[in-house]
Amino acid sequence: MKNLWKEIDAERAPQAAAEADLGENSVESGEANRSLEIYRQGVEAAPTGLIMVNREGEIAMVNRQLENMFGYDRSELLGKSVEILVPERYRPEHPPMRKAYARNPVSRSMGQGRDLYGVRRDGTEFPIEIGLNPASDGEDQTVLASIVDVSSRKAQEGELQKRLEELQRYRTEMGLLSEMSSLLQHAVDHTEAYQIVSSFGKRLLSVTTEINAVAVYTARASGDALEHRTHWGSEVVDRFRPEDCWALRRSQSHYVQETENSPMLPRCSHVEVGGWQLCVPMSAHGQSIGIVSLSGKGTPSKVERVGFERVARAMADQLALAINNLNLRESLRSLAIRDPLTGLFNRRHMEESVTREISRVNRSGSKLSAMMIDIDHFKHYNDTHGHQAADEALIYLGKCLQEHFREMDIVCRYGGEEFLVVLPDCKKEEALSHAESLCQAVSKGAVGITVSIGIAEYPSDGHAWDMVLRHADTALYQAKTKGRNRALVGESR
Ligand SMILES: [Zn+2]
Repeated sequence: MKNLWKEIDAERAPQAAAEADLGENSVESGEANRSLEIYRQGVEAAPTGLIMVNREGEIAMVNRQLENMFGYDRSELLGKSVEILVPERYRPEHPPMRKAYARNPVSRSMGQGRDLYGVRRDGTEFPIEIGLNPASDGEDQTVLASIVDVSSRKAQEGELQKRLEELQRYRTEMGLLSEMSSLLQHAVDHTEAYQIVSSFGKRLLSVTTEINAVAVYTARASGDALEHRTHWGSEVVDRFRPEDCWALRRSQSHYVQETENSPMLPRCSHVEVGGWQLCVPMSAHGQSIGIVSLSGKGTPSKVERVGFERVARAMADQLALAINNLNLRESLRSLAIRDPLTGLFNRRHMEESVTREISRVNRSGSKLSAMMIDIDHFKHYNDTHGHQAADEALIYLGKCLQEHFREMDIVCRYGGEEFLVVLPDCKKEEALSHAESLCQAVSKGAVGITVSIGIAEYPSDGHAWDMVLRHADTALYQAKTKGRNRALVGESR
């Protein structure tokens, strides 16, 4: 059988080989040779690689497909150890496996559950599948193995696996973004909004070998600088000018990859040099209000880069919307409680606050002072200098009041040129000294106005708030009659 295979493999002259064996049974031999020829052609034409290996592990037969697959001519393979086709790292374990198979020769596939590789003549490896079949030439046990190159199938599987993973990542991403969006819509202040973005952002754009730092900046009210609001990963700058960021300048995403020879877009100077950077602008009503900035040291693939940008853009859009809503809510709230001209609280807000303060005084037993303030000769001032100047005088006094009092004091424009300050935890003597220094401060201003002030105290000047106010009003009237530009404490009854 060994010889026969050699003859078949020689392929050169099967007929001549057959003729050499011609003897008495020439008719039978001729038929046998014809079957052999048909068999040989079948083996050669098989779409899989076929190889026969003897007990010693020597290659006894290969077909054309196997030659093509491994890049050898059969003359280079016949008689050689089959391990020539096995990648070097698997070679030591191959002979024991052959021996094990020889002890239990059944038709089966090789290396079930494992990835198998062949090595070509040029040293390159490729994934294969191997089917093992016991064979015998009557004297010797051999193995007939069929080999299939599964490179393209593996590549497809790999591609499919990658797509699946991408899809999975995308779904997780969408879930997180939608949850973040919902939370952001219900954030009550900016700090809360940045906390939400930070906690979700850390999961959506986690710091990896590719991403080193993610930061969120928003513009200051004056618009002259961008300030750091939150970040994760390595340190980032606290503040920069709008012109330092190309994304802000152009109102579009700006990606720069540092490479040696390619023409480069200009970098944003607020990001450390080296690697790559991506800035995505946040905008509201067509105005840039901040950026989401990413940077890293490596070279992200196109797919990674697109992924980062997709998430950063979604974050920027959601945060911009949230900030916009918060600003709107704040200005509405401010409209409801503040006097538009002076920016001080309005009378309604003061009344609500006083109710709360009075119940606190009732619980704690402390004192609360009220200060009624009126601009002297304001009608005359208005007639002389005009409405515009009168408004400016009111604005000026508003500023004086805001600077003069503590944060806990409630300063309000009571109506016209009349102002009221409520001072919690403050006795009237203390209030008087504040009022006197206020009178001085106001009179020193360039606007040229003075104020008169009347002071009363709760609960000593009345057990109801309107009684206290009447008392302060009376004191104010007395201050006016005593020559104005002064403060007076109402006399307790
Ligand atoms: Zn930038």
